[in-house]
Amino acid sequence: MTSGTRPCPLCRKDAVKVGNKFWPLCSERCHLVDLGKWLGEEYRVSGESDEQAADAVASVIDADLVGADRS
Ligand SMILES: [Zn+2]
Repeated sequence: MTSGTRPCPLCRKDAVKVGNKFWPLCSERCHLVDLGKWLGEEYRVSGESDEQAADAVASVIDADLVGADRS
């Protein structure tokens, strides 16, 4: 049994648990894709256009990257 790795739910590559703040995703890239996916769904449900949803996702991603730099 291997400990500390698991297939990434998005890209199926091995995701390392130790030292990975994006766990269970393998990387920041997959983390952002995942974030965009559920934000997009939420905005579609509330009746916003895809364009508006994309803007909202982009602003959240910007904020997330700024936060990551501080840590
Ligand atoms: Zn991944």
